[in-house]
Amino acid sequence: MAKQTVPVPKGRPASGMRARRLPQRTCVACRSTTAKRELVRLVRTPAGQIEVDPTGKKPGRGAYLCRRPECWQEALRRDRLSHALRSKLTEADREGLRAQGEALLGKVSPA
Ligand SMILES: [Zn+2]
Repeated sequence: MAKQTVPVPKGRPASGMRARRLPQRTCVACRSTTAKRELVRLVRTPAGQIEVDPTGKKPGRGAYLCRRPECWQEALRRDRLSHALRSKLTEADREGLRAQGEALLGKVSPA
């Protein structure tokens, strides 16, 4: 039995090994990809309610936003959320989200 030494490349393999990766999500406003836990999840519940989901576990179609007031403004203003959630946002939804966003971030309303 010939002993053969197979050179093993140092460092981590390019693929194959399932490293513990943080789940990534894209902000619907600025389109940047960030660790899911850094983002705020918004959800359209099966009842059609649009709400902030701090736990990230509510059922329904979700969309993610950075914790940046600019992104919330953008999402609310340009109706990106309606698109992402496949649901038309009513004025009440928008107001509700703005209020919840402000509770989370401080200031969301455009100056
Ligand atoms: Zn963003």
